[in-house]
Amino acid sequence: MLIVTIPERLRNKTVGQLRELARADAREFLTQQERYDYPFDMVHLARDAGAEVMISQLGDDVFGMIEGHADGATIYVDSDQPLNRRRFTLAHELGHMVSYKDEAGTPNYVDARSDAGSGTASEIYANEFAGAVLMPETLMKQFIDDGMNNWDIARELKVSTAAVSYRRQLLGI
Ligand SMILES: [Zn+2]
Repeated sequence: MLIVTIPERLRNKTVGQLRELARADAREFLTQQERYDYPFDMVHLARDAGAEVMISQLGDDVFGMIEGHADGATIYVDSDQPLNRRRFTLAHELGHMVSYKDEAGTPNYVDARSDAGSGTASEIYANEFAGAVLMPETLMKQFIDDGMNNWDIARELKVSTAAVSYRRQLLGI
């Protein structure tokens, strides 16, 4: 198990506070982007944010990782995942990178399936960041108001229906 320092901004926070912070950071991240049009091109968004993106085979256990640099990071996404899942992984890794924005640099970070759901502050934040980037609350509300169901929304935003359903639960909409 890799030991990673939790960024200062994620320390001493409740699950609710971590999710609020991740949503606020995701909103800020999206408004900084010029290519604000859904379904978001995650590779372009990541590159605009200073990350290189590599889609490669990472073995049986690792689904995503970050190689930190002084001026950004290289994000690796496991190629053995469905396309929607890759987009989520990339957004999740981007969340890890953004969580270190107040620190001196981005450290290395490895996401393994065997550690998934470990409930650490970093994982709660990165999952919420990914959900908020791929399925922004305002868009979700607009789609629901337009009478779209979870399947329609999933197709529109290029995410899984399970992800839409979970996001609606979290947002209470
Ligand atoms: Zn993670």
